[in-house]
Amino acid sequence: MSITLEMRLQVRERAGFGCEYCSVSETDSAGELTIDHFQPQTKEGTDDLNNLLYCCNRCNQYKADYWPSQASDPVLWNPRQEPMNLHLLTLADGTLYPITPTGIFTLKRLRLNRPPLVAYRLQKLHRAEESRMLTHYRELVTMLERLHQQQATLLDEQRVLLEEQRELLRLLLRQRD
Ligand SMILES: [Zn+2]
Repeated sequence: MSITLEMRLQVRERAGFGCEYCSVSETDSAGELTIDHFQPQTKEGTDDLNNLLYCCNRCNQYKADYWPSQASDPVLWNPRQEPMNLHLLTLADGTLYPITPTGIFTLKRLRLNRPPLVAYRLQKLHRAEESRMLTHYRELVTMLERLHQQQATLLDEQRVLLEEQRELLRLLLRQRD
């Protein structure tokens, strides 16, 4: 069995078109990424969809054909089976912080704190923060517009009232004459 074009598309799609280990996207790397066998083919890994991961060149290169050969060997984090934050936390400075032995080993093996990747993560965090602020700003502007509209309506109503009072006064004055 080999990886068909259809399987490849399926792997890309379910990964959201980004590396399942470091989350760098196809758009960010301006090209398609690679298909990784979680259990390497050289270590009896199959082309089964459950064993395939979408993976950038760097992560694939560092991961290479690692597979534990005995029970005491460290295990790599499998992004298809567990969410990242079970093993690795993203800190505000863009670095990952391991919280399990699997996290420690995966971070080291795949060099997930490599400087360009930390810079990339930081950029993404900043972009998310900017977008949050922009949304907040847009909400404020909408609220101000609504307030302005309400004030204009009130002003119109006051003008009508004033006109009515003026008319009343005119009538009263005429009656006195
Ligand atoms: Zn990667």
